[in-house]
Amino acid sequence: ILYGFFLIQKTYPYFCQKNIMGFFSGKHIIGILGGGQLGKMLLNTTHQWDIKTKVLDPNAEAPARIGCNHFVQGDLMDYQTVIDFGKEVDILTIEIENVNPDALATLEQQGVKVYPQARVLKVIQNKCHQKQFYQKNKIPTAPFQLFNSKEDLKDAVVRGLISFPFVWKSESMGYDGYGVKIVRTNQNLEEVNEGACMAEELVDIDKELGIIVCRSPKGETCCYPCVEMEFHPEANQVEYVLSPARISKEVAKMAEEIALEVSKAFRHVGLLAVELFLTKEGEIWVNEVAPRPHNSGHYSIEASYTSQFEQHIRALLDLPLGNTANKVAGVMVNLVGKEGHKGPVHYKNIEHILAIEGVNPHIYGKKETRPFRKMGHITIVNKELSVARKIAEDVKETIEVITK
Ligand code: ADP
Repeated sequence: ILYGFFLIQKTYPYFCQKNIMGFFSGKHIIGILGGGQLGKMLLNTTHQWDIKTKVLDPNAEAPARIGCNHFVQGDLMDYQTVIDFGKEVDILTIEIENVNPDALATLEQQGVKVYPQARVLKVIQNKCHQKQFYQKNKIPTAPFQLFNSKEDLKDAVVRGLISFPFVWKSESMGYDGYGVKIVRTNQNLEEVNEGACMAEELVDIDKELGIIVCRSPKGETCCYPCVEMEFHPEANQVEYVLSPARISKEVAKMAEEIALEVSKAFRHVGLLAVELFLTKEGEIWVNEVAPRPHNSGHYSIEASYTSQFEQHIRALLDLPLGNTANKVAGVMVNLVGKEGHKGPVHYKNIEHILAIEGVNPHIYGKKETRPFRKMGHITIVNKELSVARKIAEDVKETIEVITK
């Protein structure tokens, strides 16, 4: 028995090592569900490390199609499509949450390493389950009530069980605020979609913050510095991300502690972007999480020692996690389609912003622009955050995403 134990101890690290080595200039494949901009940016690291990849996306023109070794066009929500895709890879990850979770669970049972795990995704895919998860794990979040239908919600309003204003959130995945509405009147209430939902307290927000945590299969965890997100008042989309956030050390520490608590509760593998509200009373509440690379971490490509994308790949392969500190301050501007423009995209004045020091444009490669569609982003780096923020404003005023 002792000898057997000795043998396992001796050979186990070797097997692990051997598995990892199969990825570098080897035959092993990382599969990515989703071929959007996040997938495209993940592929920069797999190129750098000569790791083979396969991408599944419904759109034949997906941004990540040009950067992977093998592109498959198919429906991410279709059980069989995801199974067939996943069977041929060694590690499967996502760059979008809207994927079939049952297929992921089956693939896990068949021995495919699925990161984030199917159970993590199942909780996160449903906003109501996500809130219940926070409640169960004693993670601070805005007070809420759940309803099975719009009728039940309206009934609760009529009976005075909840009162205006509140934030309506659909149970099913929305993105960029489409499944979220502030309800102040009966008229607003009429306008919300049918289906299971929650009514959440309208938070008096001082700042919206974000922290990206990364966790490896062996449980090593690291945390990026807290960032601050500034929102576009109409489109409800992030306009600027500032790293580091302009907050006190105490608030930053509190935010980090909460983000790590969330990470510990999920026991995820890979990135977990934690969106937080700093309330006017100085409390920090978790809004929601995303178990994948996130818009709030794009700045890390130029401003951090290790980009969020490289960090995710490190975690998938159970490699040592990289340094999350900033080399310089970074401000990210989302490059979104201008209002009134729909059709083939043209990046007007890109040559002018490139004349400014520290300006790094990323163009996602989407052929068509639409109002507020995320077409790219620009990261401005500078020793001083305030200088970077000022340049970001100039950049935003100069470049235009239009049709010719
Ligand atoms: P999505 O998943 O569509 O991004 P979020 O839940 O992140 O939706 O909400 C989008 C935005 O709506 C948030 O970033 C915030 O600005 C606002 N918001 C969400 N919930 C609340 C709330 N309870 N109180 C105030 N504002 C909120």
